Formats: sequence, C-alpha cells, structure tokens
Amino acid sequence: MNQQAGRVDVVVVGAGIVGLATARALLRDRPGLDLVVLEREEVAAHQSGHNSGVIHSGLYYKPGSAKARLCTAGRAEMEQYCTDAGIPWERCGKVVVASEPDEVEALAGLTERGRQNGLEIHELSAAGLAEHEPHAVALASIFVPATGVVDYRVVCQRLAEEVTERGGRILTGVGVTSAIDTGASVVVRSDCGLWWADRAVACAGAWSDVLAAAGGERPRARIIPFRGEYLELRPEAAHLVKHLIYPVPDTRFPFLGVHFTRGIDGTVHVGPNAVPAFGRDAYSWKRFRPVDTAQYAARPSTWRLAARYWRTGLDEIVRSLVPSRSLAAMQKMVPEVRAEDLVRAGSGVRAQAINPDGSLLDDFEIVRTGRCVHVVNAPSPAATAALAIGSWIAKEVEAAERDDAGGTIVPTDG
Ligand SMILES: Cc1cc2nc3c(=O)[nH]c(=O)nc-3n(C[C@H](O)[C@H](O)[C@H](O)COP(=O)(O)OP(=O)(O)OC[C@H]3O[C@@H](n4cnc5c(N)ncnc54)[C@H](O)[C@@H]3O)c2cc1C
Repeated sequence: MNQQAGRVDVVVVGAGIVGLATARALLRDRPGLDLVVLEREEVAAHQSGHNSGVIHSGLYYKPGSAKARLCTAGRAEMEQYCTDAGIPWERCGKVVVASEPDEVEALAGLTERGRQNGLEIHELSAAGLAEHEPHAVALASIFVPATGVVDYRVVCQRLAEEVTERGGRILTGVGVTSAIDTGASVVVRSDCGLWWADRAVACAGAWSDVLAAAGGERPRARIIPFRGEYLELRPEAAHLVKHLIYPVPDTRFPFLGVHFTRGIDGTVHVGPNAVPAFGRDAYSWKRFRPVDTAQYAARPSTWRLAARYWRTGLDEIVRSLVPSRSLAAMQKMVPEVRAEDLVRAGSGVRAQAINPDGSLLDDFEIVRTGRCVHVVNAPSPAATAALAIGSWIAKEVEAAERDDAGGTIVPTDG
C-alpha cells in the first residue's frame, strides 16, 4: 500500500475540468490548504478531453438556471484565464441556421431566450449569412458573436499545473472506491490507501452516481452515458466551414444537434451525435461494459427514457452505424458537403443524469451532504462554466464548514 495516503484537509475526486477548477478555487481562496486530487486515470481522461472545444455563449439555457448564469460568468472567466495563461482561444462567433419552416419560429424563440440571457444576437439576411459562412444556406439564421473555441485538454493541463503551484497534489492512476462521511471526517478508500479528509468533493463525471452510492448516498438522479461521435471534414473540404454552424436544436433534448465546428487547431468536426453507450467509457460500439449495462438495464428510469425517445434513439443509432445517413442533415446546412469529404474522428461520452421518471435532468446539480459535496450533473456547458462552477463549489465547501446541514445546493452567484 502506498505511503502517500494520510490525513488531509480536502480530497477532490476526479481530475476533469470540474475537479481541477474546484481544486484551484479552494487553493486560491485558502492558501496553505492541504488538498489532494485523486484521479483514477489521467488529467482530462474523459469528457474534459473528449469534447467539441466550444466556449458556449449561453444561448440555449433557461434564463435564471444555473446553466445560464454559470455559463455567462464562466465564459468570461475562461476567456480571461486562457488569455492570461497564453492558451490559444478565439471568440469567432457562430451561426445558427433554420432549414425547415417550423425551425424559423423555433429560431425566433431561441433568439429571444439568448437575449434574455444578455447576449448580443444578429438576425442575418441571406447576404449576412453569406458574409459569415459563404457555403451555408438557411431559411433564417442568426449570428452569436460571443461563442468561441479552445482546447479544453490544454486548459486542464494548465489548471493542473496551477493546482500544483498552489501547493495541491494531483495523484493520477489512483481510483477511489468510496468516500464515507463518518461525522468526524471523510474516510476515502483509494488505490493508494485510506485518506482521512476534513471535506471531500466528488467530481467523477460519468461515475458520479457510483461514487455517491458507494458513500452511502441514495442518488435520486442516475447517470446514463450517451456517446457523441464525430466526423471530420477532409482538409480539401474544410474551407466549406469558416467557424461554427449549428442547426436549431430540438428543445426536447439537451443535445445541440449535429453541427460543424472549426476547432482552435483549424480542423472541422461534424457532430457529435447522441447514441446510447454500453459503458461509462464506451467510446465505440466495440466497447461493452457488462456491469454498467446491467445496472442501466435494471433501472426503471432507463426504460422510461427509452419509451420516450425510442424513435429518435433508433434514428441516431442507424446514423451512427451508417454515417452517410447523416449527410442529408449536414447538406441542409452546407449543401456542398459530400460523403467522400467525411472521415470518422473520435468520440466523447456524455455523463447525462436521468430523473427517476425517465426525464433528462437538464440543469447543473450539486448536492452537499455533511462533509461531502457531489457533482451530480455537469454536462455541457460545464467545460465553459468550469471556473465558475469551481468557485461555487469552493464557496459551498467553506459554507459546509460553518453549517454541516445537508441539502441541494442552489448557486447563489457566479
Ligand atoms: C461529446 C461531448 C462534447 C462536449 N462539448 C462541449 C463543449 O463544446 N463545450 C462545453 O462547455 N462543454 C462540452 N461538453 C461537456 C464538458 O466536456 C463536460 O461537461 C465537462 O468536461 C465535465 O467535466 P467533469 O470534470 O465533470 O467530468 P470528466 O471530464 O468526465 O472528469 C471526471 C473524472 O473523474 C475521474 N473519476 C471518475 N470516477 C473516479 C474514481 N472513482 N476515482 C478517481 N477518479 C475518478 C475520471 O477518470 C475523470 O477523469 C461536451 C461533452 C461531451 C461528452
């Protein structure tokens, strides 16, 4: 057993962007804190290293929701952080295009929502769209200047460096089996031995409910992993997309629909789709985790979810297995894209929390019980919002020291 384990002030589980931002905020607010981040794999091993790299504007989220507030605050902080750290990023803006008559009305609703969230939004004429995206077509379109791009893997590396510079420790290759609040401290059972911590924060992404249950909690919402697969435009077709082109999203889903994204490295990705993943780290159809899959299958909420969305789900699965089936949706936005311009490119697995009734838990959710804080739901735009989420969690950890009464934490500010 490793000798590193022992008594500390705070254990943070997970070195994704939320765990790292939380560790940074705690150390920034309280210099000298004895803090350790325990990560089973490596920094940014899962969602934080497998995403679209978009700095979201805050267009989509219900005004007043945690997502809306923390996306807006977090975006500004993320931009400043990247500028200060010399991390390449760009505020390139994005267009959202309505391709069908019923999407025109939905686009107007989206525009209204974005404005309620404080965003500058330009309604585009055909000439305006051509100026931003010469190869896109639409019945109606908008331009949102605030959207940007960055590589969140690079952000995570810098955050990890900063945590270390501020005196924190990051131990990779160290899995946590449970974090149990004994009343006097939190006993964290890990691959390198037992830790006794004054406080523990679980930022375990797709494993958040597993860790909560192992600690004796009964999480109301449970994670269902949805894989998002990407295609990439070959370099000779990349000129078809200048920046970001999004469809009008289907408001029944938390996912944004297949879109074109020119990343900070200049490559153009198309995606992600949303298909069920047979494991919390199932990055392709070939990976099948029997234990994970059996757990989902045993939950009534999974079947309720399947009953609601089976048709959309089936369509997505077919398009995943036969990518050329997605072509029509892409060509509605950029007609010149051809099947031969597309190659398969990576995927990410979204940790999406599901309510007991099978509905998708839309907003960010963080639960504090006693000495532990659990990040229950931190889907997109949590990478954009990470620095604001980190500050929020850090404040709650400090508040928990004054008041150990449990409950769902409602963010009070950015
Ligand atoms: C396909 C896709 C596209 C996305 N696009 C965007 C985007 O463009 N913009 C945006 O803002 N957001 C985007 N997101 C969302 C964003 O990536 C996530 O919300 C964010 O990365 C969540 O960070 P996290 O730290 O909570 O989780 P993760 O990054 O998944 O980190 C959790 C960490 O916990 C570790 N862990 C789990 N269990 C244990 C354990 N028991 N012991 C030790 N370690 C453990 C894991 O190994 C992992 O490293 C996207 C997500 C996906 C999947």
